[in-house]
Parts: sequence; C-alpha cells; structure tokens
Amino acid sequence: MSWLDVYGRPVQISGPCSAESEEQVLQTALDLKATGKIHVLRAGIWKPRTRPNSFEGVGEIGLKWLVNAGKETGLKVTTEVANAKHVEMALKAGIDVLWIGARTTVNPFTVQEIADALRGTDVPVMIKNPVNPDLSLWLGAFERFEAVGLTDLSGIHRGFSVYNHVKYRNVPSWEIPIALKERRSHTKIICDPSHITGNRDLLLEVSQKAMDLNFDGLMIEAHPDPDNALSDSAQQVTPQRWSEMMDQLILRSHEVSTDIAETIDDIRGRLGSLDDQLFDLLSERMLLSEEVGQLKRENNITILQEEHWKKVINSRLENSDYYNLTTQFVRKIMDAVHQESIRHQTKVMNSKK
Ligand code: PEP
Ligand code: MN
Repeated sequence: MSWLDVYGRPVQISGPCSAESEEQVLQTALDLKATGKIHVLRAGIWKPRTRPNSFEGVGEIGLKWLVNAGKETGLKVTTEVANAKHVEMALKAGIDVLWIGARTTVNPFTVQEIADALRGTDVPVMIKNPVNPDLSLWLGAFERFEAVGLTDLSGIHRGFSVYNHVKYRNVPSWEIPIALKERRSHTKIICDPSHITGNRDLLLEVSQKAMDLNFDGLMIEAHPDPDNALSDSAQQVTPQRWSEMMDQLILRSHEVSTDIAETIDDIRGRLGSLDDQLFDLLSERMLLSEEVGQLKRENNITILQEEHWKKVINSRLENSDYYNLTTQFVRKIMDAVHQESIRHQTKVMNSKK
C-alpha cells in the first residue's frame, strides 16, 4: 500500500518550485484547490541551485507556510529534504511527505544520512531519479530507505542532465523509469515534466507521454506569477493554466477491454513470431561473424576495419526512410549488432585452438 493509492490516476502534485512568501504559498494552494484537480501541494524550502547567488530558498520559516496552506486547503504537503537536519525540521513542522532531490539521489552518503534520520518513522518518501542516467543509483536509494524500515516509497522521474540540451532541460530517457518499473513493479512513479522540459510550452506533451506510459501521477510546478518566480520561472505556469493543461490530457485505460482482447492477442502473437525470426537471424549473423573472425585470425588482420564499417553503416542510414525507421534507431541497432559481432570475433581470435 502506498499513500498515493487513495487518489485516482493521475495523482496530481502541484505547487511552486519554491516557497517565496506566506501569501504566495497560500494563494497558489487556494487557486490550485479551486480547480478541483489537485491532490498534493508541493513547495521547495531549501533549493539546490546550480550556481551560488541564486535564490536558495526561504529555509525553515517556509515549512510553516506550507503546512498552513495544507491545513487551509485540506491538501497533503510535500517538500524536498537534502540532509538530516532538513528531515528533523520538516517532520517537526508536520510535513506529510518528503522527497529526495535529483542532486541528492546521486550521493549515497547523503541518502544514507537521510535514511538514518528517518529510521523508526513511516514517513512516505518520493525519490527523484539521480541527475545522471544510472538506474543502479536510483535503485540503491530505494534499498537504503528500505533497509531502515521505510515501506512507503515512490519514484519521481525528472530526467537526466546532459551537456548540450537540445529540446529539454533534462533528457527524459524514458527507458530508465521503465526499467525501474520492471525491477520494482509495486513502486509508483510520478513524472515531473517541469524539470524535464524546463519550458512551460512543452509540459503538456511530456505529461501526455507519461500518461501513455502508464505513470501514476504528475508533479508540475505552478506559481501565481510564473515570470517573476524566484526560481525556475521559465517552466512554471499559473494554477489556471495548469488546470487547462490537465483538461487537455487524454487518459487511456491500462486495462485491455474484452472486445478487443482477442485482436490484440492475435497481433501480439504475430509480433512474437517476428521477434523469434529477428533473434534467429541475429544468431545466424553472429555465426557468420565468427567465420570472418576465423579468417582474420588465420591471416593475422585486425578485427576492426573502419572503412568497411563506415560503408556498412552509411548505406543503412541512407535507407532508413525506406524502412520507415528513424536514423537514430538504425544507428542504435547497427551499433549494437556491430558490438556483438566484435565480441564474437574477439572470442574466435583469442581462442586457444
Ligand atoms: C524541484 O523539484 O524543485 C527540484 C529542485 O527538482 P530536482 O531535484 O529534480 O532538480
Ligand atoms: Mn524547480
């Protein structure tokens, strides 16, 4: 059982990036509450900022504002904690749910410190993915909290840092939360489109994607005056805009209804047999790679022949349109096939006989 179970899907968490003043927190909470769509109020009290001299949060005083706004609206409240002192202050103030920020999840020392501070409580904790795309680190944080007896844990997917961000502030790499879900099927995952996109105009498309991937909820930042927010202004929206966006979300059922179950099963069967063929072909292909490896060994030539490989990959890339595949996908597949082929050839090259 998770505290999130009492809400329908999607669980809606919203509120300002940062608590800035008592009025701002209360106003946001009341405006969100008036939409009738919100379940949980968020606000950052201590803000992990990339550069110094940015607004670093109001600190302990903000806890009172948040708890009070929760009381006024009947909403549960959540904030980020980044060390044991934060945990102590947040619990004393009556914060319902804690979250671990992306810059904290990367650091096992800090995660352990926070876990130790929570030992003996059963406070729900939401764990953001680490800033770097490392599934083990994310899983490790869950394990540290479990080891001190916490049971009500959920995940927040907020994307991963890259040096050059093209479209999004943090790349979503959806395969990572999907892999988390595979390892921990009982764990609920909330998507945080605000920190993925860094851009209010892109919130809806990422929210929709999260819903189509069957995420359990959304955490989106809302502020009464987004352009003048003290942190993350480009990605915040007014509660009214948030409500309009949420109305535009298309929610699809996760259940397969009986009238189409047979057709879906039939198509899945055909997909399965195509996959069988793909794997048979891959396996056959690797046998040929080993034959080439044998020849290279006998003639003492290197495994990697760059010119040849360039030709092979370029001709595939040029034909990606014809196959109705993206060049990125073709590149990934060919790189994977090539790596596996090199592995087979290396095995032949270095075998004793
Ligand atoms: C936040 O939610 O305001 C925040 C700082 O997020 P993250 O840890 O994902 O950067
Ligand atoms: Mn933020």
